[in-house]
Amino acid sequence: MKPYPKEILSLKERIYNYRLSRARRIIENTFGILAARCRIFRKPIIANEKTVINVTKAATALHNYLMHSRQFEPLNQYCPLGFVDCETSSGLLAGEWRSNVSDYQGITTLQKQLGSNNYSRDAKAVRELFRDFFNSPQGQVPWQYDMIAEKLATEFLILFLIYNLDESAHHGDWEYSLLSDTGPQYWGYDHPICNGKRQSPINIIENQAFYSTALTPLILFNYSTLFNNTSYYLTNNGHTVILGMDANSSLSIGLFWRGRKYNYYGLHFHWGENDQHGSEHLFSNKANPLEVHILHYLNDYGTFSNSLNYDDGVLVWSNIFQLDNSVDTSSNPLQDIFNNIKNVIQAGDKTSIQPVALSSFVAENSTYSYYYYDGSLTTPECSESVVWIVNQKFMKVSSRQLQDFRTLKGHYHNISNLVKEENLLQNDRPIQPFNRRTLYTSVNFINSVTSFSKSYSAAASNVLILGETISLFLFFVEF
Ligand SMILES: [Zn+2]
Repeated sequence: MKPYPKEILSLKERIYNYRLSRARRIIENTFGILAARCRIFRKPIIANEKTVINVTKAATALHNYLMHSRQFEPLNQYCPLGFVDCETSSGLLAGEWRSNVSDYQGITTLQKQLGSNNYSRDAKAVRELFRDFFNSPQGQVPWQYDMIAEKLATEFLILFLIYNLDESAHHGDWEYSLLSDTGPQYWGYDHPICNGKRQSPINIIENQAFYSTALTPLILFNYSTLFNNTSYYLTNNGHTVILGMDANSSLSIGLFWRGRKYNYYGLHFHWGENDQHGSEHLFSNKANPLEVHILHYLNDYGTFSNSLNYDDGVLVWSNIFQLDNSVDTSSNPLQDIFNNIKNVIQAGDKTSIQPVALSSFVAENSTYSYYYYDGSLTTPECSESVVWIVNQKFMKVSSRQLQDFRTLKGHYHNISNLVKEENLLQNDRPIQPFNRRTLYTSVNFINSVTSFSKSYSAAASNVLILGETISLFLFFVEF
C-alpha cells in the first residue's frame, strides 16, 4: 500500500500517511528483531514451504516466550532497551538492530504484477477505506493529531526553503536514511526499477570472481589533461557533491573499453557517517570510507540520458578510498576539492575550483586490474544500464579530509511531504542482491577459481539434502 503522493494533502490524508508509516516501521522492527536474533532469516531459506512456515512459527513462539517471561528483568539480553525503534517527542530513535541490516537479505522483492488496472483501482479503494477508518472514532489513536500538528507548524518555513532551491538541485522524493519513509528500502514504490534484478551496489566477494581474458585494460583519453579554458566547479545537489565542468563541445575526455568509446559525463562522491563506512561497494562485507564514481556513456548512444535506455549504455568507473591518516595533504592533487567542500554546504550551492585532472581520482597503474559486472545506477531511477568497473587498487584518504563531507546539508523528506535540510551524514545505498549475475576479474589472482567453485557447490548441495534438519539446527544455535 502506498502513501498519498506528496503534493498538498488534506488533514485526513496526512493522518493516513502517518499511520501507514508507523505500520511499516512496526513490520520492519518485527522482522528486524527476528533477523537480528535468528540468523536463519537473514538469507532466503532453502527449504520447502511447510518447513519455512514451521521455522517462522517456532521463532515467533520463542520470541513471544522470551519477551513475555523476561520483560520485567532488568538485564533483558534478548531485546534490551534501545534495541527497537522508539518514537520520542524530539523524533525517532533508531533501534540497535538496524546497525547491521545490510546483512539481512532474507526478504526478496516480489515481482510486481503487470498489466492489471484493476489492481491499482482496488489498491486505491483500500487506501481510502483505511484513510476513513484512521480518521474515525473507532480507528484513531490519541496522539496522531499531535504528530501531524507539529509538522504543520514547521511547514511555512520549509516551503520557503524549497522554493529558494535551485530547481536542478531538487532531485525528487528519496533519501538515504533507513529510518525515513523515503529511505532506500522504499525507493521502489515510486521508482520500480530500484526493485529490479541487476541492482547496484553489491558485495564483491573477491575469490568468487571469474577471470576473463576479454577484460582488456581501459585506455584513457585526456584523463590527465587540465583544460585551462574551461571552468571547473563543485555542486551540492542535495544527495552528493558533483565535480562538474562547463559544457564545451570540443572537450573530449573518456575511455575505450573492449573496443568501444565511452565519453566522460560526471563525477561524484559517496561517504559515510563515520570512517568505517561510506563506500557503496563492499569487499567481502567490508566497507571503506569513500567511493568516487566516474560516469561515462557510450559514444554510439549520443547522450547520457539516451544511454540510460540501453543495458550497456553507461560505464561507471568506481574508485574506492581507504583510510590512511598518513596521507600528505599538502601535495595531494585532490586537496583543493576537499578544501572547497565547505563552500557548498547547502543543497544547490556551487563553487569554482582549480582545474583538476580526472586521473587524480584513480589509483596509479590501475587500468588493468578491476572487477566488472552488470548493474544499475545507485540512485533513483536506478536504471539497469550500467557496466560497472570497480578498481582493485585503492586510493588513500585521511580522516581529516573526510570530515567536511559530513557537514554538508542534504534533502530529507518525510511522509507529509515536508522537506528539511539536514546534515547529509551518509549517502551510500545498501548492497543489493547479486541474483544470477557473474562477477568478473581482469586479473587472474586466484588460479584455482574453478576448482574452488566446484567444491563450493558440492558443499551447498549437501546442505540442500539435509535442508530441513540443518535449518532447524542453525535456528536454535544461532542467536
Ligand atoms: Zn554514485
